[in-house]
Amino acid sequence: MIYPIRLYGDSILRKKANDIIEGELDVKKFSDDMFDTMACADGIGLAGPQIGLSKRIFVVDGTTLEEEDMKNFKQVFINPILHSESGDFWEFEEGCLSIPNIKENISRKSEVEISYFDENWNKFTEKFSGMRARVIQHEYDHIEGKLFTDYLPSIKKKLIRSKLNEISKGKCDVKYKIKIP
Ligand code: ZN
Repeated sequence: MIYPIRLYGDSILRKKANDIIEGELDVKKFSDDMFDTMACADGIGLAGPQIGLSKRIFVVDGTTLEEEDMKNFKQVFINPILHSESGDFWEFEEGCLSIPNIKENISRKSEVEISYFDENWNKFTEKFSGMRARVIQHEYDHIEGKLFTDYLPSIKKKLIRSKLNEISKGKCDVKYKIKIP
């Protein structure tokens, strides 16, 4: 099933999402649907709130990217806990399926340590770095109710304010299904 993507301005994107209780949701089916939804939108990461479910789950799929360390990075993160961020800050141009056609340089630390369950409820604690860490940080923010635009300095925010307003009214050019707030 392909879900419509929630856009900037939708209140669900601003809520801290809840843990999934084992058994309350078919996480295998749901994560497959998330992968399908994300593939239709050419995304590399997608979090529950972006398709209208305020639960702590996100998926990543870097298999279509050029970057060598992303090619085999396809997995589901359930009830993740971000333990630490470390390393140097580095800038990278981020985008978001919920904020179409806006890309901005965002500075984040280069390493994360995170615990999570996979779709079979196996628990892992792992370190990720570089692009993998970046995608995890962006998606983890989604389940905390944060968006990448929150990190922009106020002058940048002012510059994109009208574009964000248009997005929240559904006035944006996208090739995937969206749900207008
Ligand atoms: Zn996003």
